Amino acid sequence: MTSRLSRLAVALVATAGATLGVTVANPAPASAAMTICYNTSQAGAYAGTANQAASIWNNATVNLTLSANCGSNLRIYQITGGGSYAVRTSLGNGRVYIDTQQAAQYSPLRIMTHEIGHILGLPDNYNGNCAILMSGGSAGTSCTNPYPSTAEANRVSSLFAGTFSATERSTDRSADIFRDSWPAALTTVG
Ligand SMILES: [Zn+2]
Repeated sequence: MTSRLSRLAVALVATAGATLGVTVANPAPASAAMTICYNTSQAGAYAGTANQAASIWNNATVNLTLSANCGSNLRIYQITGGGSYAVRTSLGNGRVYIDTQQAAQYSPLRIMTHEIGHILGLPDNYNGNCAILMSGGSAGTSCTNPYPSTAEANRVSSLFAGTFSATERSTDRSADIFRDSWPAALTTVG
């Protein structure tokens, strides 16, 4: 019954739009898209990886565009040891840290797209499924998939469309730190 009513509502809206000559296919103005300027000046060997990850997210989503070195919504750092992680200060803003030791074990591009995924609003989802980007290191070192699933990409698009609550998008909470995304590389003691 609900879906019938929904279809009816859609049909009525479409009819009204057609009558008024209004295009309803793309109701959000283009200017609503958020540009996320990412800065790779500290990204070291992973600047190119960051560009690849930005392209992946741009191709997979709408309502946001990751753009290189036009500002510093997102700063990307190369670090050594401790594991890769992300610090999200608000939706689309924060810092990503790529651990060189870890990137020698796991796909650097998968790590990068995953950590940027946190900045774009996604939590971890450690289900071991390589098809899920936010499964992170749980999918093992053999998993090199750098692409978000359709559900993950759609979630990000929805977040940036503003269809989620203000609380979910707000800056008033303390920083979200996703430090355990990728467990630190194993070290040999002694
Ligand atoms: Zn993570």
